[in-house]
Amino acid sequence: MAVNRAPLIARSEVCSSGNDWRRSLANAVRDPDELIDLLDLPETCRLPARQAAGLFPLIVPRSYLARMQPADPQDPLLRQVLPLEREGDHRPGFITDAVGDGQSRREPGLLQKYQGRALMVATGACAIHCRYCFRRHYPYGDEPRRIDDWEPAFRALAADSSLREIILSGGDPFILADARLEVLFHRLAGIEHLSRLRIHTRLPIVLPDRITDELIRLLTTYRLRPIVVVHANHPHEIAGECAEALRRLVGSGMTVLNQSVLLRGINDSADALAALSERLIDLGVVPYYLHQLDRVAGTAHFEVPVEQGRLLIEELRRRLPGYAVPSYVREVPGEPHKIPLV
Ligand SMILES: *Cc1c(COP(=O)(O)O)cnc(C)c1O
Ligand code: SF4
Repeated sequence: MAVNRAPLIARSEVCSSGNDWRRSLANAVRDPDELIDLLDLPETCRLPARQAAGLFPLIVPRSYLARMQPADPQDPLLRQVLPLEREGDHRPGFITDAVGDGQSRREPGLLQKYQGRALMVATGACAIHCRYCFRRHYPYGDEPRRIDDWEPAFRALAADSSLREIILSGGDPFILADARLEVLFHRLAGIEHLSRLRIHTRLPIVLPDRITDELIRLLTTYRLRPIVVVHANHPHEIAGECAEALRRLVGSGMTVLNQSVLLRGINDSADALAALSERLIDLGVVPYYLHQLDRVAGTAHFEVPVEQGRLLIEELRRRLPGYAVPSYVREVPGEPHKIPLV
């Protein structure tokens, strides 16, 4: 396995020289043909990948690619990013806005579904495109881009003293430049009734060189208590630089949680989920949520029946300490919190 991986790892080192995360991002693989050639995948993958990438573009950072097993179309990391023909299938019940984002939009870029917490869609950009993404059809084009565009959201946050926590999501907030994050953090810290700043991000997992000293400094400089929620689905993701990035976040004193999505053919086994939890816990990251797949158009082939999810959680309870078993939840539009499935 290590021998097979060597050439890809070498390539990723060349591309991320000097810990320049922007260069790693710019060098991410965006061409389905290149992905197929680099990983030596069967020719039959090529045409469907080209076509489905037209529905939702392919993006995979090279450091993430380096954690895949070449020549294996079933690799659990590859399956999260490889565009498939089935994404074009229309399945009843699978819709563009499965989680009711539209009905909870309070201002441009600002969503609120739950008491005390509001969520900013800080950017539409991501360093990776996960094929099962619940926001793969989100109208990001309607959301703020320039800092001035955020004024209505800042005003709404300042006017609602019931809020305690602001969540930055997206897209991936850590894709924003440090200077932009600094302005956002500064403005949010100025809103007195807020006490926590939560960031939902996949970058520590997929583009770990983004976790620079400067980013950690920014997160820990302001009055707000930082909570970072990362998104890993499989133990193979938590390797090398990624483990180091998580260690650094945890080491800086932040609360670091993980959320996963239960995905058919990727992590729908007790072995995969237990190994993921063990790796996270050993790094100081708490397994927070295991999400039932949101029924988003183009993702039906990833769905695992809830009954099977419940059995997996029971098995995890047998194998792991209580704190290592995530809450298995589903998001139901209009409900006041995520719905526990166990
Ligand atoms: C999931 C979600 C949250 C966070 O919910 P928690 O249960 O606190 O993790 C907040 N706002 C929105 C819009 C969400 O979708
Ligand atoms: S990182 Fe998150 S928002 Fe971005 S494509 Fe993946 S699941 Fe969607």
